Amino acid sequence: MRLSAYFLPTLKENPTEAQIVSHRYMLRAGMIRQATSGIYSWLPMGLKVLRKVEQIIREEQNRAGAQEILMPTIQPADLWKKSGRYDDYGKEMLRIEDRHGRDMLYGPTNEEMVTEIFANAVKSYKDLPKNLYHIQWKFRDEVRPRFGVMRGREFFMKDAYSFDIDFESAKAAYNRMFVSYLRTFERLGLRAIPMAADTGPIGGDLSHEFIILADTGESEVFCHSDFLEKVSPSADVDYSGDLQPIVDDWTSIYAATDEMYVKEDFEGSVPEDKRMQCRGIEVGHIFHFGTKYSEPMGAYVLNSEGENVPVFMGSYGIGVSRLLGAIIEASHDENGIIWPEAVAPYKVGLINLKAKDEDCAKACDDLYQKFNAAGVDCLYDDRDTSAGAKFKDMDLIGLPWQMVVGPRGLKNGVVELKNRKTGEKEELTLEAALSKLG
Ligand code: ATP
Ligand code: MG
Ligand code: MG
Ligand code: MG
Repeated sequence: MRLSAYFLPTLKENPTEAQIVSHRYMLRAGMIRQATSGIYSWLPMGLKVLRKVEQIIREEQNRAGAQEILMPTIQPADLWKKSGRYDDYGKEMLRIEDRHGRDMLYGPTNEEMVTEIFANAVKSYKDLPKNLYHIQWKFRDEVRPRFGVMRGREFFMKDAYSFDIDFESAKAAYNRMFVSYLRTFERLGLRAIPMAADTGPIGGDLSHEFIILADTGESEVFCHSDFLEKVSPSADVDYSGDLQPIVDDWTSIYAATDEMYVKEDFEGSVPEDKRMQCRGIEVGHIFHFGTKYSEPMGAYVLNSEGENVPVFMGSYGIGVSRLLGAIIEASHDENGIIWPEAVAPYKVGLINLKAKDEDCAKACDDLYQKFNAAGVDCLYDDRDTSAGAKFKDMDLIGLPWQMVVGPRGLKNGVVELKNRKTGEKEELTLEAALSKLG
């Protein structure tokens, strides 16, 4: 992409409405614009990152055996009256009436709808297990939408739902999502810590929130610092095998949100120098809730004894749009965003220091073509503006690599390659620079 043609409305000043760094940088880097409180438009570069994050989540869901569907954003209220949640959900639910006077709502989550789809189609244990997920916009009329996409009213979520014949197999389904989440966040360049979360009236211990440690997080958390060094399961993890040892390994050291925190347990099991009490961002949440929805929604199947039993279910959410904020909170400096390579909107920013110089333009055009041919995603700053402005913008948008091409270097056949994260710069011949990034 040529920057001269790109829709990238960057801002020089910090927008006053943005209180945290990720919100500031997302606005300044031209990724999002607010439509109204808690509701955002995604501009080309923001959307590009959103799609990359979404795709990594999708790949890891598929790898773990979940199947993608797409349910609508608008749901009939009847479904929620059946489960009993229509009245319980309260003011966070955006309620709508259609022209026929029927009660509708903008989905804040999809347990009811997916349970109904399942119930109408599956009648036997032989068709289990199943895990269906979608990646879809949600609406929750949050009391205090804030921090940009971190707590939006409209936001993008991956939500998966598992269906099993009994608790044991439901637990295996839970473990598959647990492992898949470890892999997903690792691939996104994040260290997410699974923390024991409240199970409410359901009981048991099958609820974990995946939390990114960050000062600006809204949850207070307590955990063992060994989590920072743990190695996530690799891509060849066997999802058809027993994943319990991996889950045990990741849950054997202390991590809890304030709701679940017990001082004696924390201090009793974590040596003082390893105790972390800090703030965190909830980027994912997995939860086993048994027959809470299958009973009222009539999701029953025949078991191997010929009895009709309600299925055991769990739900598994990831805040896709929130993740962009979380990634930036975890990876930035005073000059801007530092994208982890896996989600970077472009791998390299090609900076032409002197757009009006014929040789410079020719060399850059040529490099740009070579990047394209090699399948290296390149943002080419071909604008006729000052070098200073170009450096500032490039640091702000945070591409992993910057290739700086100027008349002086070209005379010696070299360009400068800068690593955005380390700040390291090296001079390389054009060929060496190309092959390094190719
Ligand atoms: P929170 O505690 O932050 O309000 P939640 O527990 O209500 O989140 P869940 O119902 O567990 O959220 O939804 C799954 C995921 O969706 C969350 O882990 C979070 O990453 C994301 N999410 C929830 N609410 C929002 C929101 N208002 N804006 C952006 N992402 C959200
Ligand atoms: Mg909430
Ligand atoms: Mg929560
Ligand atoms: Mg939650």
